[in-house]
Amino acid sequence: MEDRQFGRIHFLRGENKGRYPFANSLYIEGDNLRVIIDPSCSRGKLAYLRDQKGVDAVWLSHWHEDHFTYLYLFDKCPLWISAKDFPPLTGIEQLLDGYGIDNEDYRNYWKSAFQTSFNFRPRQSARFIQEGEIIDLGSVTVEAIPTPGHTPGHLSFFFREESVLFMGDHDLTSFGPWYGDAFSNIDETIKSLQLLRNIPARVWLTGHDKGLFEEYPAARFEHYEKVIYERENKILALLEKQPAALDKIATEWLIYGKPREPLAFFEFGERALLKKHLERLLRQGRVVLDNGTYVKIH
Ligand SMILES: [Zn+2]
Repeated sequence: MEDRQFGRIHFLRGENKGRYPFANSLYIEGDNLRVIIDPSCSRGKLAYLRDQKGVDAVWLSHWHEDHFTYLYLFDKCPLWISAKDFPPLTGIEQLLDGYGIDNEDYRNYWKSAFQTSFNFRPRQSARFIQEGEIIDLGSVTVEAIPTPGHTPGHLSFFFREESVLFMGDHDLTSFGPWYGDAFSNIDETIKSLQLLRNIPARVWLTGHDKGLFEEYPAARFEHYEKVIYERENKILALLEKQPAALDKIATEWLIYGKPREPLAFFEFGERALLKKHLERLLRQGRVVLDNGTYVKIH
């Protein structure tokens, strides 16, 4: 899959098909402002744009490490991001807290990975993109659409002239959505997906994997949301057989399907996603918590 251009918008395919730890990027050639969104596709492509074409600002759809990997190449460019998603970028401890990583071993693993593999450098200031803000880059008009859930301040970008929609990490992959951070939220993820489905785009772009759809990806949207309910049903089926504590539920690998390593990634992720589902089931009154054990209500 190659890079593509839609008017002033360049879709830059991430290495390894845009799969984590890479992500797809955009380069927007406005008359007044040239912007990279999510500097994470490849070092070579981004350094070329910086040195040969010019980059005036770097925007982030959200604060995750696989979207800021090459932000350090643009340390002289202003960073634009939502106010809600900026705090984790101000320091390594804040970044770890953003994920809600409390296990000391996992914290050390990620501290090192963020600083070395993802080139994390704290940022002290940013230009905050307002929710719903319409930004004129010169012959390109962008609407910043709040699409929280994955992160609290996740933004999608709708380019009006080209009818191109960039959905960031509402990425329509077969794995399904991530909502395991300290401030991620399943209900908001569902609402954001419903909002994105109704935007009158002609091209849909995402941060990972295929990442480019020139026909309305109805089946993808449907599957992506369905994964949420499938995860929930697996948890309920397990609790139906026997009430269980989170530690026990996590050993079943209901989300990732089978034990995978590194545990700092997969075991952490399994527990983080389970926790969000269990919190939601508690809120809905479909399970109760009895002395650390989750019990399904009949
Ligand atoms: Zn993300």
